[in-house]
Amino acid sequence: MDEFSFIDKLKKLFAGIGDETILGIGDDCAVVPVSADESFVVTTDMLVEGVHFLEGGISPRELGGKSLAVNLSDVAAMGARPVASFLSVALPADKRGGWAEEFARGYSDMSARFDVKPAGGDTTSSKGGVAINVTVVGRAPNKNLKYRSGARVGDVVAVTGFLGISAAANFINEIVPQVAEGAWLGERQEVGAMMDLSDGLAGDLVHILRASGVGAEVELTKIPTSHPLELALAGGEDYKLLLTASADGFEALAADYRERFESELYPVGRIIAGIPEIVWLENGMRLLRDFRGFDHFVIHITRLTNTTDGDAVQLIVIIL
Ligand code: ADP
Ligand code: MG
Repeated sequence: MDEFSFIDKLKKLFAGIGDETILGIGDDCAVVPVSADESFVVTTDMLVEGVHFLEGGISPRELGGKSLAVNLSDVAAMGARPVASFLSVALPADKRGGWAEEFARGYSDMSARFDVKPAGGDTTSSKGGVAINVTVVGRAPNKNLKYRSGARVGDVVAVTGFLGISAAANFINEIVPQVAEGAWLGERQEVGAMMDLSDGLAGDLVHILRASGVGAEVELTKIPTSHPLELALAGGEDYKLLLTASADGFEALAADYRERFESELYPVGRIIAGIPEIVWLENGMRLLRDFRGFDHFVIHITRLTNTTDGDAVQLIVIIL
């Protein structure tokens, strides 16, 4: 059973339990309404040594910052503002001295940078490696909340920055979550769906398509990247925002965004009616790609290009 089928199983098993006004499993954050006008959003993420990071691959200070940053990114993805965090750590004996202090410094610096209150947590020992769990609570006016289910046919699909940078560098340790950008986009009624890019555009966009019951066309030549396309689409750990916006409002939205952040909203495609799959286009020509996800060593891409006298099949294998 893979990660997503397990989550689906949990979602079915937990359905119907408790307060039905709480939005649970399936979006970047859970949404807990506090009044008719406002909600708390809550997200939690776990980082495990040997799985998410390797000893020596990241400094404890960077790890402290990153463990909070990935959660701030999920809060931003809802159009909300992060307010408080909870930090739980399991530490082996050799990590309880200077290592722990450096880790705490990184966590504290990231908290201060985005003005998020470290409000509690739990500390325990570990007989194995380090395990870290961070929970972040945010808040937003209900009208600002952006769900994965908010995409509508005709919407522009856009991303907030260059993709593939982290994967090309064999994963960067310093993540800058788009906290102000997310809250700002939340206030804009042109924005339909939003999520953060943690697993790569190719996989992440499908979550929006499934939740919204729509398809999408993505134009490969519009993907903002200076790295091989495979890294931009399936590399992961981008921590940029992926959003859909009404076609007639997009230009004004992008202009205001540019003025506010001196940065671009990059349109990469549009939402279409149909099954929740991505139709890849290259200069308007339809391609058929088979993504196996990101493999550190070998990426196989099956590519079907349209020609005037029928379909030609071309197999490209890139070995990095
Ligand atoms: P993200 O990458 O945005 O953090 P995930 O892919 O980790 O999201 O999780 C997708 C959804 O599944 C989220 O709503 C999350 O809360 C939920 N989820 C993941 N694991 C569990 C679990 N063990 N129990 C309950 N919900 C879970
Ligand atoms: Mg997310």
